[in-house]
Amino acid sequence: MDDILSTPRRLRCTRCATDVIGRQWPGQDIGWGLCQSCIEPCKQHAGSEEEFRVTHGVQGVHFDIQSITPSDNEASEREWLEDSRDGRFSRVAVGREDSVWVCNACGQDDADPWEYGCEHCDEKADAY
Ligand SMILES: [Zn+2]
Ligand SMILES: [Zn+2]
Repeated sequence: MDDILSTPRRLRCTRCATDVIGRQWPGQDIGWGLCQSCIEPCKQHAGSEEEFRVTHGVQGVHFDIQSITPSDNEASEREWLEDSRDGRFSRVAVGREDSVWVCNACGQDDADPWEYGCEHCDEKADAY
């Protein structure tokens, strides 16, 4: 049962197909888990706690992991990519495929180094 100690990973909810962080339960197909909002309906569907546990695993271990949510994960993936021409704006990666320009004067996201600069503190655009 070393499965219990494995790192939580991104699974797909077996009932509604949303992304959810959980641990693989041996009774479940690989890559599938259970999301927060499907816990109750699935419990009722299973009929008993025991039946539910056999199908979906242990609450707080395989599903319903409170401390790690997909959005927490995304925030920690912020990574510096490049600076604008004179360094007043920086582009950082947000999640796996998105990036955003950050104003280095005030730290605000969604700056535009080409045209508008920073709407938050009126830092001027810097013709990247
Ligand atoms: Zn679900
Ligand atoms: Zn700013």
